[in-house]
Amino acid sequence: MLPLPNFQVHRATTVSGALELKARLGDSKFVAGGTDLLPNLKNGLYNTAHVIDLGGCRDLEGIEHQADGTIIIGSMTTLADIEASPAIRQHASALAVASELVASPQIRSRATLGGNIMLDTRCRYYNQSRFWRESLGGCLKLDGNTCRVTGSKTACMAARSSDTVPILIALGAQLVIELPEMVNWIPVCDLFGKDGRFEACFNIDQNALVSSVKIPAPKPGQRSVYRKVRTRNAIDFPQLGLAIAGVFEDCICTGLVAVVGAVNPRPKILQGMDIAVGTRLEDCIVEKLAESAFKQINPLANIAGDPAWRREMVRVEMRRGLKELRDQQG
Ligand SMILES: Cc1cc2nc3c(=O)[nH]c(=O)nc-3n(C[C@H](O)[C@H](O)[C@H](O)COP(=O)(O)OP(=O)(O)OC[C@H]3O[C@@H](n4cnc5c(N)ncnc54)[C@H](O)[C@@H]3O)c2cc1C
Ligand code: SF4
Repeated sequence: MLPLPNFQVHRATTVSGALELKARLGDSKFVAGGTDLLPNLKNGLYNTAHVIDLGGCRDLEGIEHQADGTIIIGSMTTLADIEASPAIRQHASALAVASELVASPQIRSRATLGGNIMLDTRCRYYNQSRFWRESLGGCLKLDGNTCRVTGSKTACMAARSSDTVPILIALGAQLVIELPEMVNWIPVCDLFGKDGRFEACFNIDQNALVSSVKIPAPKPGQRSVYRKVRTRNAIDFPQLGLAIAGVFEDCICTGLVAVVGAVNPRPKILQGMDIAVGTRLEDCIVEKLAESAFKQINPLANIAGDPAWRREMVRVEMRRGLKELRDQQG
């Protein structure tokens, strides 16, 4: 059994209280559901003396469906609540699907959307016990100077394995980021850096708190799909995540966005998807798009699953996802 290290827990009851604690305590971590932070603390991945519990911040909970169709989700909303939300199931259905595919029911009843977005990047050489890592001498991300995956001495390529992130990007979602005396909006697609090290993997201040997620009102005829590859469907992190959002008018596609997750530190927005525009996503177009996706994604040996197989699955899942999108109503 891995014991938790010693740290002091501070309970916040409001956003401003949480920010005040963060500013006062210095080196500290927010904890939401704790389903990623606590295993990481047990593995000795962070050295923090203070943890700020956001569990009492009622102002961070809930799902609001506004009159114009915009959906606002508080960062402390659990994934279980998202998958069960009628508004999300109807207007951003692939987000409900992605939430439902995270881990297991027990974990989803604790795990929050904010924690899922702010998840640390993952790697088979990093998400291990201290004993395991020390036997190898660490790696660039922690306790070492060389990446075990690429041999690089400058960049970590750990995977961003959050299931909700690709679909939030495909739906054009934005985050509300709070710092003392400052509130900012940032598109989810701009949140992530190219380097998987914790201090570089988010393009926002390390003390910032994500307070909510805004999903714009769906366009008429908008459809969305999320597909996930993993070894054990009951619990595993994605070995590949694919989100597709498309807009259709009388079965003719007028716009298509596809985002691939669980490959690199930053989700990849696929290029060249506009060949779908003006088509009915006929099988020949689906094949072209699947081939294009395959060419753009080159998985590394950073997480479980042979990279060549994961790459092939990009083509397979793209094909399946596009056909699913084509067959949806709306
Ligand atoms: C067995 C197992 C399987 C899993 N499978 C999956 C999976 O399939 N897919 C998947 O996506 N995840 C998976 N996870 C990871 C995790 O359960 C989820 O990503 C979950 O949504 C994390 O949310 P949380 O509230 O528990 O985050 P926490 O663990 O509380 O926090 C995670 C990180 O986010 C930061 N954070 C949390 N909230 C905020 C906020 N509001 N503002 C700023 N920073 C914040 C924390 O400081 C921490 O660094 C799995 C975990 C386990 C243990
Ligand atoms: S990608 Fe490289 S540097 Fe990053 S965690 Fe894995 S082995 Fe370490």
